[in-house]
Amino acid sequence: MNSRQDYENLPFTHIYVEKRVQTHPRTREILTHFPNAQIVAIDHYKDVFNRRGQDAPLQHRFQSLILARKEDHFFYEGAPVCQDFGNTNFYYCSTMMNCLFDCSYCYLKGMYPSGHMVIFVNLEDYFSELDAFLAHKSMYLCVSYDADLLAMEPLVGYAKLWSDYATLHENLKLEIRTKSARLAMWEELPCLSNVIYAFTLSPQKMIDACERGTPSAKARIACALAGLEKKFPVRLCFDPMLYLPTWREDYGELLSELDAAFAGHDLTMQQLTDVSVGTFRISQDYMKKLRRALPTASAVQFPYVNVGGVYQYPPRLLKEMEEYLIEELAKRIDKEKIYHE
Ligand code: SF4
Repeated sequence: MNSRQDYENLPFTHIYVEKRVQTHPRTREILTHFPNAQIVAIDHYKDVFNRRGQDAPLQHRFQSLILARKEDHFFYEGAPVCQDFGNTNFYYCSTMMNCLFDCSYCYLKGMYPSGHMVIFVNLEDYFSELDAFLAHKSMYLCVSYDADLLAMEPLVGYAKLWSDYATLHENLKLEIRTKSARLAMWEELPCLSNVIYAFTLSPQKMIDACERGTPSAKARIACALAGLEKKFPVRLCFDPMLYLPTWREDYGELLSELDAAFAGHDLTMQQLTDVSVGTFRISQDYMKKLRRALPTASAVQFPYVNVGGVYQYPPRLLKEMEEYLIEELAKRIDKEKIYHE
């Protein structure tokens, strides 16, 4: 499997630690996983992460870790390009910045000046701000947008901490999105109706072309279905759909793989919480940086059209791709459970 599941070989040979979190219990716990790393004390994560002139894609290949404290802006309102799945009070938060995986089209490369990964260790401050919010309102919160929390779970355990928090707050609904495929997660995490595990699926050809370091389509499907079998709420995200000349055959193959896997587990797609469909889209500002950083990545250099500040596929192609997949999915799951942009 082409995934970074051997956590002994993680790339974090250098770990920058803000002086103010050096004694934080979560810092100490994370550092136990890296007995051979070179630890560098810093004043503020921005001194490393926000330096000018960094080569983020190159850094990603030799990723360092930065342990820091988040000071403010713990929660952000969901962006219009993101799917709210019919929920009100849609927010997301970043407890990590950057990802263990390395998808060429990832908006994080357009958003952050660095390829290194930041982990904010003060999760308790997120929780206390959330306590105040939830005292008055419900929230739909995506906690795995600017990173892949489950890919980091053996090192950081944030999905478990978020789940434990959700156990105590019925008016909080969490989405944990991932491309990981670690079966052990289903033994470690509580099964809650208000925590949805959202697996992003892509055809294997697209994974090979654009999603470096991620588990195979087969492994992701197997993991999602193992969770569903144990009654965890599972969402499948066909988002982003990316164009390859063979996209129709590729998605057809992915659907056949899914059909076989569901049948093999004696499950049906109706048992999913829902599914989402969305072709690739990205804000013009992120795209500008992404194109500069990755001049040879076909998923980035495609002649997208700019619609109101968002780059997307030309309308006819976009419609064709999304309609194809929605029609196919509608043969397998109620239309009300299919969300799309
Ligand atoms: S898994 Fe998601 S967050 Fe991670 S690199 Fe790929 S697109 Fe970006």
